Amino acid sequence: MATLTISPTAQLSKDEILRYSRHLIMPEVGMEGQLKLKQARVLCIGAGGLGAPLALYLAAAGVGTLGIVDFDVVDFTNLQRQVIHDTNDVGRPKLESARDTILDINPNVEVIPYETRLTSENALDIFRDFDLVADGTDNFPTRYLVNDACVLLGKPNVYASIFRFEGQASVFYAKEGPCYRCLYPEPPPPGLVPSCAEGGVLGVLPGIMGCIQALEAIKLILGKGEPLIGRLLIFDALGMRFRELKLRKNPECPVCGKNPTIHELIDYEQFCGIRGEEHKPDVRVPEITAVELKELMDEGRTPVLIDVREPHEYQICRIPGSKLIPLGEVPARMHELNSADEIVVHCRSGARSAQAVDFLMKSGFRKIHNLKGGILAWSDQVDPTMPKY
Ligand SMILES: [Zn+2]
Repeated sequence: MATLTISPTAQLSKDEILRYSRHLIMPEVGMEGQLKLKQARVLCIGAGGLGAPLALYLAAAGVGTLGIVDFDVVDFTNLQRQVIHDTNDVGRPKLESARDTILDINPNVEVIPYETRLTSENALDIFRDFDLVADGTDNFPTRYLVNDACVLLGKPNVYASIFRFEGQASVFYAKEGPCYRCLYPEPPPPGLVPSCAEGGVLGVLPGIMGCIQALEAIKLILGKGEPLIGRLLIFDALGMRFRELKLRKNPECPVCGKNPTIHELIDYEQFCGIRGEEHKPDVRVPEITAVELKELMDEGRTPVLIDVREPHEYQICRIPGSKLIPLGEVPARMHELNSADEIVVHCRSGARSAQAVDFLMKSGFRKIHNLKGGILAWSDQVDPTMPKY
């Protein structure tokens, strides 16, 4: 991020010096850093599970201007994790409730509320006045919209996402590293990735991931430390493990690549809604036949077998030794795979697995093949006892 320049007239009041004393006595922050925080303008997309700890900690730390985009109303199911709202706020707009809590914590913060749905029409105007954007959304159209708007305006996007017991975080900053589209060129097929409302989320998880976003935002403002640019941090809450995936900029990225094809914001509902349907044309990927696969297995050179069908299909039949990673989970679980291994991906007929192979190749996997014809071909050519369905 371009280093924030501190206005020569900027200063802290006596009260502020006392409030931020634990920052001021650290050389990495000091008076200069605290003034940078005071002048910084951060836009939080969403005042929900991630936005709650994010906004609270940014406010407490002394970030001078916090924009918040949200149009929701607090309901009882929010309280399990959205700690910026309390029981008495149920029924109130989230923006009002969030602003009250923020000003209770730090009256020096200016809160700019945007009570609106973020759209392709308003995103650039809203983003323009902020130094960085923190994406706390829970849906794919908004995620791609936030990404593209940040790339077009040259702003860092401090990203996190959560599901059940797993969180991800990164800083997408196209000037210095990859963007969200470099990591996920296409949205998952609609309906295959359940939302938190459908799949659930442990209440503490957004607390942890939102705090990581707050920390990354503060580091960017201060210009200190190593930001998560080019790295995807993956947090497994049940295992209590953090893992890290190196991300590379995709030179073919349609928005931040060498020859971008996206120069303005598009229709993101459509972009995310029409992909992955049954009629999607087959993608061309390296293939292996069922007979070739059987020969490898007989020679003791069994590759890593990944089955991208759904769990209820896996219960019907499976190729021995295969590991189930349903197609919609492949992006989030690709860290379970080793790109040094020979990998064969399969599904029922070979169409979904072709999508998975295509995705994984774009993510850097090279020794990977699609099982031509899928389990149906395996049943026809190798093992006639394999049920077809
Ligand atoms: Zn990109």
